Amino acid sequence: MDCSSCFACLAACPTQAIQEDRFLLHAERCLVYANESLDPWPDWVPSDAHHCLVGCMRCQEVCPQNAGRLKVEALPPVFTAEETEVVLRAQGDAGNAHMWAAIDKKLAQAGLILSGLLLARNLRALVPPESRSQESDDR
Ligand code: SF4
Ligand code: SF4
Repeated sequence: MDCSSCFACLAACPTQAIQEDRFLLHAERCLVYANESLDPWPDWVPSDAHHCLVGCMRCQEVCPQNAGRLKVEALPPVFTAEETEVVLRAQGDAGNAHMWAAIDKKLAQAGLILSGLLLARNLRALVPPESRSQESDDR
């Protein structure tokens, strides 16, 4: 791999996890580290950095070594507005089992085995509070 004159991933990383000081990335600054944890959403993530429910891929998308190798797939499951509201309001494991069964089934169809709480935490980080329903919690 010829990284010596590239730096495309360094420029694309939204959290500056890739630095010139070493070849390895600073994993503790990587979005994937932040969005696969059930800890409270970390303050160090810039407000415009989080861009998908899990993972990131910004560095992989721009890497010239990956040219022609990455594929975007449209996943069949579509979540309803009602399901999205249920996820946004999730606080615990109880309540609305029927709705959660449907949500979990769609996640599995998309190849995502995620805890409902992780899904809720990461979706809340993506959706501004003013865009959410004011109704109270379901899970
Ligand atoms: S996955 Fe995203 S946050 Fe992590 S190093 Fe790559 S660009 Fe940075
Ligand atoms: S984008 Fe790819 S080739 Fe360029 S510096 Fe990063 S890892 Fe190396």
